[in-house]
Amino acid sequence: MSIKTEIERLLNELPAGVKLLAVSKFHPVEALEQAYQVGQRAFGESRPQELKQKAEILPRDIEWHMIGHLQTNKVKYIAPFVSLIESLDSERLAAEINRQAEKCGRTIDCLLEIHVTDEESKSGWDYDELLSFVRGGGFAAYPNIRIRGVMGMATFTDDEAVVRHDFERLAACKAELAQYFGEEFDTLSMGMSDDYHIALEYGTTEVRIGSTIFGARQY
Ligand SMILES: *Cc1c(COP(=O)(O)O)cnc(C)c1O
Repeated sequence: MSIKTEIERLLNELPAGVKLLAVSKFHPVEALEQAYQVGQRAFGESRPQELKQKAEILPRDIEWHMIGHLQTNKVKYIAPFVSLIESLDSERLAAEINRQAEKCGRTIDCLLEIHVTDEESKSGWDYDELLSFVRGGGFAAYPNIRIRGVMGMATFTDDEAVVRHDFERLAACKAELAQYFGEEFDTLSMGMSDDYHIALEYGTTEVRIGSTIFGARQY
């Protein structure tokens, strides 16, 4: 199926209130343009320099989401324009995002990426550490960051019960953390090409879909 047909199919399928993030990492700008032509405006990238290069070429009304692990020395590439950093996973990174946001005169929206699987390869906060940081009012030191919710990934497995358990846990983390933030804490970003159907059952508000839309990535 073509990029356009896939986007239209997904937009039809997703319930109202669930946002579609088109994960375009490793795909050329021509692919993003096709998605743009059928009205897609939110794109997710995993590498700051690639995100910046694409943003410079493509229309200005695109909403760029950073979804990959973000090194502190690369925040500066995206700070002036990024719409949402979904991979905020440490206090050190929060401090740097805050510093760069302040330099640009912006407040940057971020999601707390939480590690809920047993896989060492996945990034994200350890939930207990995050909870104590939040309870201690840790984010008050970073006024140029606005925490909008939670992002996470399920275990890479065919065992659906494990995937369900991970999404249930992410939803519970989001629900518990909500009491420490305001009404703007409204986003639960979970679900990818292979598991978004399941994420929908656990209340996701944003699915991040790459290969279903754009095909396999060439690394
Ligand atoms: C690559 C990536 C996706 C998209 O994965 P697909 O399986 O291609 O849909 C979603 N979320 C994150 C964090 C990613 O790195």
